[in-house]
Amino acid sequence: MISYGRQSISDEEVDAVTEVLRSDFLTQGPKVREFEQAIQSYTQANYTVALSSGTAALHVACGALGLAAGDRLWTCTNSFVASANCGIYWGAVVDLVDSDPHTRNMSLAHLEKKLGQAKAEGLLPKILVVVHFAGVPCDMVVIAKLAKEYHFKVIEDAAHAMGSRYGNHVVGCCKYSDITTFSFHPVKNMTCGEGGALCCNDGEVYQNAKRIMSHGIVREVSQLKDPTQAPWYYEQQTLGFNYRLTDIQAAIGIVQLRRLDDFIIRRRYLVERYQELLKGLPLGLPFEPEHVLTAWHIYVVETESLDVRDRLLEGLRRKDIIANIHYIPIHFQPFYQEQFGFSKGDYPTAEGYYSRALTLPLYPSLTDKEQDYVCRCIVELLCP
Ligand SMILES: *Cc1c(COP(=O)(O)O)cnc(C)c1O
Repeated sequence: MISYGRQSISDEEVDAVTEVLRSDFLTQGPKVREFEQAIQSYTQANYTVALSSGTAALHVACGALGLAAGDRLWTCTNSFVASANCGIYWGAVVDLVDSDPHTRNMSLAHLEKKLGQAKAEGLLPKILVVVHFAGVPCDMVVIAKLAKEYHFKVIEDAAHAMGSRYGNHVVGCCKYSDITTFSFHPVKNMTCGEGGALCCNDGEVYQNAKRIMSHGIVREVSQLKDPTQAPWYYEQQTLGFNYRLTDIQAAIGIVQLRRLDDFIIRRRYLVERYQELLKGLPLGLPFEPEHVLTAWHIYVVETESLDVRDRLLEGLRRKDIIANIHYIPIHFQPFYQEQFGFSKGDYPTAEGYYSRALTLPLYPSLTDKEQDYVCRCIVELLCP
């Protein structure tokens, strides 16, 4: 079976986990800090917090930026539901922006128009979550400019984009955003089993994130309401959660991060091959904007119609190739329709894209031969 994505685990990760299992700490030991420092030096951000999932990272990020009941959070409808759910956890109202037909990222034209309207109505968002879809970085310079003009905070949901770059900047450096979040789920560019992280450059945002991810508890003397207490003393100052990553997971992550650049080289090689092998077919192929380097988490093609897409998906399945669909627009989800009154037709670009999109297999251990087979099957199914 060839699936749309899978992890690459070597003996090195196995050995790293074994070492932790034989050590004194399964959690709250030295590996988590080592992992955080490795991410920090990779992304060049000032601060990094390792977390139990990408969803936890988004949840904590929203809280660390002060999102509260009644605030508004906007994100792109072409994303995983976690990009929007994170706002609702804090009682915020979620609104959505359509996608761009070329990059499949948030449409900046639609965003600008919507911000203008929202300003007139006094309904501007407090936080904008931008998603680097498939690993293709959003135009962060434009987004940062809009953030300044309309006074909102920016979270980069970089679940797809660990290792991507825009210009000379690694995604995660937070030059154009307040926080960047990552996911280390097994299908992503690197994995811990489950896991996530956030990066930021502001010390106060970092302290907020640390507090929220551990029960709202503060231990640092400088942060205490009563700093005269003994070394074992701590204070719960707000309501928080347990979003710790374990040392077992961090040990996997440390090795994976060392291998990340090789993974990306392989992903980019396979994407280049797909572009070559599939050109000339009635398929819309992804493209990489200028001045970015895409870590290509997924490879999504667009067929000419819903019927063709469904036939292709089914046909590939019969040949043991498990393609996938990214994403069902968030505003199609029953929960979002019931909660916020969205309906079909609200975001035509994302909807059209969704009806024709197909995610083909892409992962570092996919062999050239397997990729040739996938492409041969596509040619047979599209041009019988
Ligand atoms: C995977 C993913 C998440 C959630 O990450 P988890 O680690 O699975 O919680 C959030 N946003 C996007 C865009 C994702 O692809």
